[in-house]
Amino acid sequence: MVDLKGQYEHIKEQVNKSVLEVIESTAFINGPEVHQFQKELEEYLDVKHVIPCANGTDALQIAMMGLGLKPGDEVITADFTFAATVEVIALLGLTPVLVDVDPVTFNIDVEAIKKAITPKTKAIVPVHLFGLSAPMDEIMEIAKAHNLYVIEDNAQGIGANYTSKDGSKKKTGTIGHVASTSFFPSKNLGCYGDGGAIFTNDDDLAHTLRGIVNHGMYIRYHHDVVGVNSRLDSIQATILRAKLPHLDSYNTARKDAARKYSAAFRGIENIITPTGFCHAENTICDTCNCHVFHQYTLRILNCDRDALVAHLNENGIPCGVYYPIPLHAQKAYKDTRYIEADFKVTNQLVKEVISLPMHTELDDEQINFITKTVIDFVSK
Ligand SMILES: *Cc1c(COP(=O)(O)O)cnc(C)c1O
Repeated sequence: MVDLKGQYEHIKEQVNKSVLEVIESTAFINGPEVHQFQKELEEYLDVKHVIPCANGTDALQIAMMGLGLKPGDEVITADFTFAATVEVIALLGLTPVLVDVDPVTFNIDVEAIKKAITPKTKAIVPVHLFGLSAPMDEIMEIAKAHNLYVIEDNAQGIGANYTSKDGSKKKTGTIGHVASTSFFPSKNLGCYGDGGAIFTNDDDLAHTLRGIVNHGMYIRYHHDVVGVNSRLDSIQATILRAKLPHLDSYNTARKDAARKYSAAFRGIENIITPTGFCHAENTICDTCNCHVFHQYTLRILNCDRDALVAHLNENGIPCGVYYPIPLHAQKAYKDTRYIEADFKVTNQLVKEVISLPMHTELDDEQINFITKTVIDFVSK
């Protein structure tokens, strides 16, 4: 699914040198590399504060702690996403309210959000799923009208642009009140272990978050709030510093691969290719700037998706099903308030989606082999 070795070969010299320097310096925790990376990411994203932490799941949890969300508060998020999003909501004793997604963009459905709002609703967590921004103009409007926080889960969308209706461009993760991301190795900006970060433009919230990641300390050994221990270590930070300058070209390589995949699948009746949704123009386009293709995900219609998965695997082609079970149907997150009729799209998508290999090192020969194998199978 990914080719981390191939990508490493291009930056090997710098990565090896930087990692050795950190080891020689012995500044393993909260060293200067972490601070430098923080500054460089703030500049890249054009956001006031980046707070590095241990992983993307912690980032979400700490963001919610920083906002002061309390047990019983309802948090609306998408039914079709990775479980981390709903997991931290539940862990904090908040009430997750899962809602359906849009069949074209796979992102949280705006009408479904509106329908789910109650007097207890305190926050919305849009996930920029597979690297495509959720409809942030609409989500921010709803949040403003109902006095809600917006926490962007940007684990899959780092580097993506969101163009508002007024034409202004922002990076995903800098639009809501606070955002989280993950540097898990296979993410668009991945380190060589675990890592994550929180972003915000709010100075007070940033201060609160910096204490929470460090045991609730603002002054050494003075614990003002209940915190956690969640750090990005210096070795990971130095690897991320080596990779950040390449993030845009990495994302371009992903978009190029996606375009080639989609060109090969054009006209194949039972395949729906992912489309970049251009929010500014309210249109769907193949070459859209918005999507950074963390995953390249097809919908396979009137065909046995699981048999296709097996067929690809038999031919040595890795693939993934993200995600095979709706969150509302997971044992851990079942709730009697959910009605199946409210999850029509997710219930359908979990049967149809398949994600093909997507990374920065895909070549034409690989893409041709993959697309030919898929087309041969679905056209039978
Ligand atoms: C990867 C991911 C996370 C969690 O990130 P970790 O670093 O693995 O904890 C959270 N949300 C989404 C949507 C993700 O894809």
